[in-house]
Amino acid sequence: MTTQGVELAVRCDECGGTAARWVGQFVQGRELWWDSELSCPHCGAGRCEHAGPGPAPEAVREALLTTHGPARLRPAAGAVGAVAALRAFREDPGVSLGRAREVLSEFREFGLTGTAVEMALLQLRLRDHGVPADMAPGPGRAYRYVGPPELWRRGGGPGGQLLRTSAEFAAWMGARTAAELAEPFTFTVGLAGFLRLAPRRSEHVDCAGGALVLSAGEVGFRREGGGWAVEEVSNQSTGYCPDVASWPAVAAALDRIGVHRPGGFTHEVVFRRCPGCGRNNIVREGHFVCVFCDDDLPAYWNVDGGVS
Ligand SMILES: [Zn+2]
Ligand SMILES: [Zn+2]
Repeated sequence: MTTQGVELAVRCDECGGTAARWVGQFVQGRELWWDSELSCPHCGAGRCEHAGPGPAPEAVREALLTTHGPARLRPAAGAVGAVAALRAFREDPGVSLGRAREVLSEFREFGLTGTAVEMALLQLRLRDHGVPADMAPGPGRAYRYVGPPELWRRGGGPGGQLLRTSAEFAAWMGARTAAELAEPFTFTVGLAGFLRLAPRRSEHVDCAGGALVLSAGEVGFRREGGGWAVEEVSNQSTGYCPDVASWPAVAAALDRIGVHRPGGFTHEVVFRRCPGCGRNNIVREGHFVCVFCDDDLPAYWNVDGGVS
């Protein structure tokens, strides 16, 4: 895929109506480009806001990732030639050898994650240097923090422990007290598909360091055989309000650390934003009505959207 975009609803500067902003990323030659275009159906305003080479700003990447989800790039079968791969990773100006080595080790061990267009360009560059790589879409859309801003202590970095392998998970669990193990943990799954765990009363946004996630919730474990199994798992996160459809990301993260797990959330939370008053609701017992204003709630997940 060499182009990807998303249409956002925004307020028109000219007339105050709802206008459409198209933001996208694409590959031009061997460069990454991004663009932004505004058009207003009410007053006819229309302009190209940006079109040029370079990495997309965070807001554009966030729009692409929360709509389309991330893509993953992994080495195809066979050994990865280090010299060739480093050349490919250093095609972007200003990438140091040290940084390229970090990217290479991540690529070999876990694969790389980014927008579909970013990964498609890397795949093209790697291929041209004789390093075949496979690209796979992620398990679905990403979620951004939608909770109260005051609950997020910005700049602190992720407070949750990153657990990528069964060895990392076993070591971390081995260091928990009996009291900690008696309660479920706060969890998030990052864009690269790995679990982060933090003590139960931690905010999800702190667990993830404010980053986009593939899912979030609470998870409890029990001992089983020589290892661990999931006792309970939910998408209970009022900070990220992930859809129940985010389960495959949780399942994949748990599989990576070798934990026996159920086939779905043991407790599903249905989050909806009220189209009338704009507040977030938890739908209880299939009653799709806003608890604040009695307006009907939609059948589909809609928490992150609307005019920004
Ligand atoms: Zn307008
Ligand atoms: Zn309402």
